[in-house]
Amino acid sequence: MIHKTEDITNDQIRTADVCVIGSGPGGAVVAKELAESGLSVVVLESGPQLTHRISTRDPGAFFSKYMQQGGLRALLGNTFLASMQAEVIGGTSEVNSAIIKMIPNKILKEWIEEYELSGISVEEMRQHYEIVTAELGVRPTEDEAQGPHNKLVKLGLERLGWDSHPLHRAVRNCEGASDCLTACPSGAKRTMSVTFIPRASEAGADIYPLCRARYILREGGRAVGVRADFLDPETRQPRAEMTVYAKAVVLSAGVMWSPILLRRSGIKGNGWVGKNLCGHIGVAAFGLFDEKVDGWWGASQGWGSNEFFHRGLVLESLWSPPAVMATRLPGVGHEYLRELKNFDHYAIMATKPRGVSRGWVREGLNSQPFCWMKVNQADADEAALGLKACVETLFAGGAKRVLPGCYGAPWVMKEPSESDILLTKRFPPSSFEFVANHVFGTCRMGSNPRTSVVDSWSEVHTCRDLFVCDSSIFPTGIVNNPQGSIMAFSRRTAHHIAERYC
Ligand SMILES: Cc1cc2nc3c(=O)[nH]c(=O)nc-3n(C[C@H](O)[C@H](O)[C@H](O)COP(=O)(O)OP(=O)(O)OC[C@H]3O[C@@H](n4cnc5c(N)ncnc54)[C@H](O)[C@@H]3O)c2cc1C
Ligand code: SF4
Repeated sequence: MIHKTEDITNDQIRTADVCVIGSGPGGAVVAKELAESGLSVVVLESGPQLTHRISTRDPGAFFSKYMQQGGLRALLGNTFLASMQAEVIGGTSEVNSAIIKMIPNKILKEWIEEYELSGISVEEMRQHYEIVTAELGVRPTEDEAQGPHNKLVKLGLERLGWDSHPLHRAVRNCEGASDCLTACPSGAKRTMSVTFIPRASEAGADIYPLCRARYILREGGRAVGVRADFLDPETRQPRAEMTVYAKAVVLSAGVMWSPILLRRSGIKGNGWVGKNLCGHIGVAAFGLFDEKVDGWWGASQGWGSNEFFHRGLVLESLWSPPAVMATRLPGVGHEYLRELKNFDHYAIMATKPRGVSRGWVREGLNSQPFCWMKVNQADADEAALGLKACVETLFAGGAKRVLPGCYGAPWVMKEPSESDILLTKRFPPSSFEFVANHVFGTCRMGSNPRTSVVDSWSEVHTCRDLFVCDSSIFPTGIVNNPQGSIMAFSRRTAHHIAERYC
């Protein structure tokens, strides 16, 4: 069951076969698979429960309640990369665009070879992926839900003769409310809180929202439980302690928190815990059209292209609320207000190079993650290439002006040829307005304990009975949107855990 934790004021002690920390795509799959296999499972999630009935279109109000660090997290280094992770039952699946894709075979093979992953094959991973996507009900975005902003991107891609396809998403009866970032108001999005979490609960898992793990309890080189705090729903300050004793602990707190919890528990993985932070380096162009686009109507991200897949980047239509995107508009004062009034004439196209830059995360001020990344010139060059493709697509779709969001290039482009500068001039990383919402690597998987944190079955090399199941185990970026692959890896590990402890 999903416990009501708002009123708990007394310290609690529980025992279970497995304690899972975090309820995002990684944790939710593990909880459901293990509960269905007959093990007793406790899930601790630091965020509250959210239902579509209390979703809001006001990003400020929503982010402050349901996003980590109020949605204002950034990777800092030689530039600024905005990076969001949710804090809510269901994790970041609740706020994402529900695009589901598989890790490309080439990258999986690369991992198997380079990180000497044993017992993993492309065929096996594809089976896990197909099962989780069938359970989610993944399908191509229907025409009726596309809305004008996705259709203009489609038109642009078709006119250029480029690859063009509807994005496959985990939705049912999507109304195209374009509100995926602040949770789906109609409940159409097949997030973890409406799929794997209720199924885990039905199979007997005990799920505790507003319960934040503090550290992992260890004895003689094994994990034996978790110490956590129940949080006040308003202040999010601890008000009672929770201790769970378990035969195994699964850490699925996401790419920022999983390494912090490991370090707090004295596990450093030869210095690798928290290092190797990597991610897809996202940029976007805005196109202004004569006709009304009304971007708030249509799936948030409904259309895409793999034209530049061979270069390690995909192109996708995008919509986010004006309160998030309007900082990109040109001008100040009255000029800016005029642009803002035009927001219903904009369509947006985004791209996310795979990313070869590396960084790290560690516990910073106020016990929150502090994330650092130095974006290198190779990633900036790939971002410029992807951005040019976005600009060209929007012009081909009929845009009259395009804002590439690259300092040093014209802020407003009036014709496609102006985008040539993105390839003829070299722009340093600080020129771009980067977003990194697909982030990985801080508990990297590999067979060598000297260079990785978890083994091929996601068990921490230096601590038996402790597993990591989230995007932090991916050694590199994967080009494609990661949720489906995170779920596939978690399902594989869950079956391994079930075999050992059942
Ligand atoms: C705006 C946005 C759009 C995206 N769109 C897509 C998309 O369309 N398709 C796609 O594939 N990917 C998308 N992603 C990325 C995808 O959502 C994430 O990669 C994925 O959710 C990561 O899953 P996870 O289980 O690793 O972590 P998360 O989903 O982040 O879950 C981790 C959970 O652990 C909890 N937690 C953290 N610390 C603790 C603690 N100490 N105690 C208890 N609980 C804790 C957190 O509150 C959180 O709920 C998007 C991301 C964003 C931000
Ligand atoms: S586009 Fe709107 S209706 Fe469709 S899944 Fe996203 S929020 Fe829900």
